[in-house]
Amino acid sequence: MFKQQSDSRGGETALTRYSFRLGHLVELHSTQAALVLAREVAERETLEARLAKLEIETAHNALRVEMEEHLQAQSRLAYLATHDALTGLPNRTLFSARFGQEMEDARRQDRKLALFYLDLDNFKDVNDTLGHAVGDALLQNVSARLQHTIRDGETVARLGGDEFALMQVGTVSAPQVSALAGRIIEVLGKPFSIDKRQIFIGVSIGVTLFPDDAEEMEVLHRNADLAMYGAKSDGRNCFKFFDNSMNNEVHRRACLEQAMREPTLSTQLRLAFQPQVNLNSGHVSGVEALIRWTHPTLGVIAPDEIIPVAERSGLIIDIGAWVLRESCRQAMRWREAGHEHLTIAVNVAAAQFQNGDMPRLVADVLAETGLPASWLELEITETGIMHDMRGAAETLVALHQQGVHLAIDDFGTGYSSLSYLRQLPVQRIKIDRSFVNSVPGDADAEAMVTMIAKLAQALRLEVVAEGIESRPQADFVRGAGCTFAQGYYYGRPAYALPPPGFMTGVSLGIDLEQGIATQGCVPEDAQQLELVPWTR
Ligand SMILES: [Mg+2]
Repeated sequence: MFKQQSDSRGGETALTRYSFRLGHLVELHSTQAALVLAREVAERETLEARLAKLEIETAHNALRVEMEEHLQAQSRLAYLATHDALTGLPNRTLFSARFGQEMEDARRQDRKLALFYLDLDNFKDVNDTLGHAVGDALLQNVSARLQHTIRDGETVARLGGDEFALMQVGTVSAPQVSALAGRIIEVLGKPFSIDKRQIFIGVSIGVTLFPDDAEEMEVLHRNADLAMYGAKSDGRNCFKFFDNSMNNEVHRRACLEQAMREPTLSTQLRLAFQPQVNLNSGHVSGVEALIRWTHPTLGVIAPDEIIPVAERSGLIIDIGAWVLRESCRQAMRWREAGHEHLTIAVNVAAAQFQNGDMPRLVADVLAETGLPASWLELEITETGIMHDMRGAAETLVALHQQGVHLAIDDFGTGYSSLSYLRQLPVQRIKIDRSFVNSVPGDADAEAMVTMIAKLAQALRLEVVAEGIESRPQADFVRGAGCTFAQGYYYGRPAYALPPPGFMTGVSLGIDLEQGIATQGCVPEDAQQLELVPWTR
């Protein structure tokens, strides 16, 4: 019983111990499983954390790239907004900003500044004849040369087209401005080698000084522009300082533009006629119609002023058509009065020639007036043709096919060559008065007149010498081989009708030794011509 008790006690203990150990094992096992699980969770969380970190890094990088791109785009935009795309030079906006800053500095330090405006000479011809690609390359080359010519702190900008602006800073004085302008003219005067061609251009420069000429930027820009136009009209490839008389010219131009829009213009315009003389026969062979404008308060306005004003005001097409129509009517009146061998020469402005549909207008006017086409001669300047050679050639051919005669006016002042003109249906060239004025005596002018006359003869073109005012001039051009002449020596423009004083020369013959300057010529202000009023 004791043993059994003892065994029974011992059995309980073993069972308890076993259960305890089993419980401990189970506990251990579950702890282990929990640990494994915990480790797995931890590992997963670490992985997730890594992934999240990676994602954040990726997003951060993307954001950085995006921001960099944005900044680049922004600075590119800022660059484009302030620089010229073709040449890379600063544009007007950046130039104005820098100029404004320089003006402030100069004001504080009591210094001067010079503003240059540059406009290339003959650039349009290059573009028209050699194409835009060559024109663009030329502008890039010009820009590079200009940038090499300026010093640190100075800015050269492209304002647009073939116009550039430049500011000279530091110790600016008239001699220094002249020196820089001279340098620019020299640098741009050297040939440009583009597309295996040698291209020659020039530059016209206008300069204005701050604060001497003006203290406001806008006024300085206008001054420099005016001075540049002054340089252009002074014969190009030169520079000119602004002076106040240029403002007066602008004022006059504005007055004239306004006057041209007055409804009474039709009563102020008239035509005068100047004889053209055949130097072989001594007879008046034709007349050139010249427009005259007398304004009640501005007085007589020179023909040189009328055309540019008419072009700017847009009236050139209407006025040109009126001149043509009235000239043809007048020529018919003379023919009906018995002067059947008189041609009528009518000037055609470049704008008319380019936009006026001349062939249609001429056909209409000839039909209306009944004037035979061969008695009408149209005078076109070289520049009028050179602006758009292909278009000009088409128009000239169309006019020629109608039987109209064509003459190149002011020959020698443009850039065309006789050999090129030979390809156009032109019958006549008129040697510019600037050459005739200087003969005899000026060797260059003498050579020019003689050469043009000889070449024209070889090409079977008639030559008219314009602006003959004296016997020596008349003798020289006759000797040089000019067949026709025109000028005060032979007859001033006249309004007279019928017939104008110089018409006596048609039937009587002009004394080529004496001219008719004092005999039989009626000054244009002596008599009124009966003309149909000009109407818009
Ligand atoms: Mg003319």
